[in-house]
Amino acid sequence: MNSPASHPFSICVYCGSRPGARPEFAAAAQAVGQWIGQQRGQLVYGGGRTGLMGLVAEATRTAGGRVVGVIPKALVDKELANPLCDELHVVDTMHERKAMMAHRSDAFLALPGGIGTFEELFEIWTWRQLGYHDKPVGLLNAAGYYDAMLGFLAHSVRDGFMGEWQMDLIRTGTETTQLLEALRADVPKHAQDDRLAENI
Ligand code: AMP
Repeated sequence: MNSPASHPFSICVYCGSRPGARPEFAAAAQAVGQWIGQQRGQLVYGGGRTGLMGLVAEATRTAGGRVVGVIPKALVDKELANPLCDELHVVDTMHERKAMMAHRSDAFLALPGGIGTFEELFEIWTWRQLGYHDKPVGLLNAAGYYDAMLGFLAHSVRDGFMGEWQMDLIRTGTETTQLLEALRADVPKHAQDDRLAENI
């Protein structure tokens, strides 16, 4: 069960390197990890041991999933590279990290987090709108954390800087299982085929 190819769903999770101020955030990260593990899925994430990042990885492993961490060498000490990873890749740059995380995943999900999480979400979303990939992107609005951001994005549509079709490229939700199942259902077949052919 430990080779990547035996894991039918590989999902990249972006989330805070801090735990955040409310217990609902930790609960959401644990629920996501638990679901991935129960599905015998593969978690691809930033490889850290701190905050929600550490919690999602631990919950995935505990529930029987596989964990792939990708961390730039400059952050190995700062974000505490996580020894529980089945695979831990220490890469040279942040760009390499993000490219590898994207390549190894069938879908992407952002949980509550800070500036690093925002940047990762917006990057993978813009890559999707440009057609650089066609994999589903989700946003888990745990405890309403992203309400204000979603409000601002709606404002951007109203003020003519975004189209509704761009908003339609991310799937937002508050229910963990529902959102994860919807993302899995949206995975294009070639994404899994390509990944399994490479055994990643
Ligand atoms: P944060 O949400 O700020 O706690 O960061 C979550 C993760 O995003 C951390 O592992 C950061 O290393 C990562 N991250 C990704 N891209 C960036 C970036 N351009 N600047 C800072 N952090 C980033």
